[in-house]
Order: sequence, then structure tokens, then C-alpha cells
Amino acid sequence: MVVKTKESAAPFVPEERKLPVLAQAVQKCRGCDLYKNATQAVFGEVDGRDGGAKPKIAIMMIGEQPGDQEDKQGRPFVGPAGKLLDKALEEAEIDRSKVYVTNAVKHFKWEPRGKMRIHKKPGMKEINACRPWLDAELETAKPKLIVALGATAAQGLLGSGFRITQEHGKVQEVDGMPPVIATLHPSAILRAQTDEDRHAQMRMLVEDLKEAKRVAGG
Ligand code: SF4
Repeated sequence: MVVKTKESAAPFVPEERKLPVLAQAVQKCRGCDLYKNATQAVFGEVDGRDGGAKPKIAIMMIGEQPGDQEDKQGRPFVGPAGKLLDKALEEAEIDRSKVYVTNAVKHFKWEPRGKMRIHKKPGMKEINACRPWLDAELETAKPKLIVALGATAAQGLLGSGFRITQEHGKVQEVDGMPPVIATLHPSAILRAQTDEDRHAQMRMLVEDLKEAKRVAGG
């Protein structure tokens, strides 16, 4: 009988807690099958840089997974959703140089539609497999606060029963982690059906980020 071992990034995560070391090591991760169809792993960064050896990070923002552009460029939040996040951070007057952005899953999961690569939501199996990278980022970056962007990140940290519509913008305490505030993923705002919805959702994201700034100490 062949026993399939549980998928996990754990054997691929180095012990050294330095962001540049982790960012390099993630490229060799085979902790689940997602690396097979992705261009590269996309690790977290601070304002376009790898965070350096001694990062000063107030807020860690965690999204779902890299998108098409992120997969090609090897950087998180550089596509349309990232541009919207930058705008929201600016409106909330958050210092971008103290914000680390990353994703719950480091490889792009997609399915083909014609010539396009369409985003496919990662499952709990992949989120759990990738968790050791997120834990290593948290241990290294030591943020004062986590902002979970969207349901995948929020439920991965706060449990599958967590509902952003009801609990967004409120501080959640979790054992062994900095406080967490969950809010909308900017890609949800890009998918809004009407201008009215889009503006309302953007207002919600900016207000939640203002609260995050207050909790993280400005
Ligand atoms: S998604 Fe995460 S666990 Fe899976 S191969 Fe990529 S880095 Fe490893």
C-alpha cells in the first residue's frame, strides 16, 4: 500500500530567520503541487525590496495568492489589485516602507481558458501546506499587526467560520500571533458590478486600513 505523505512546505523552510534567505529558499519549495504550473514562487516584500536583514515592519498584509502579473514578475501585489491597494494605503496615510505584503500561498494557482490563465482559488490543503512559509515570515518580520486581505487569508488565520462582511475592521486576537484585522481583498473591489458598490467597498477598505494604522501605532 502506498501511503501519501501530507503535503507541507516545512522540509523546505530554512532555519535561518532572514527574509532574503527565506525569499531565496522558497523557489525550491515542492511542498505541494502548485509549483508545477507556476513561473516562480512569489515571496513577501517591503516596498519593492526583500525586507533586508533587520526589517522594521509595522503591518504585515496577507493576501490569497499571486496573480498572473505577480507570477510573471515574481513580486506580490504588482498587478491591478496591487495598484488599488497602494491607492488605499495612501488614502489611509500608511507609511508603505513599514508594510510587508505577502500571500497565504506562494505559487499562482490557475486554469487555462483559451490563451488566458484564470485565477483558481487555492484549497485548504494548499493553504495549510504553504503555512510554514507564512509562519517563517511572521517570526522574521515580527509585525505589530496583521491585515488579512480577503476571505482566504482571513479564514486561514481566524478559522473557516470567519466572515469578513460581519467582522471586517475589528481587531481579532489569536494565540501566538499579533492582532489581526481582516478586510476586503482589493481584487474584490475590482470585480464590483457597479460604481456605487466599488466606491462603497473602497471606502470600507480605506476605513479598515485607517483602523489598522491606529492599532499598529501610526
Ligand atoms: S504553494 Fe507553497 S507549499 Fe506549495 S509549492 Fe508553492 S511555496 Fe511550496
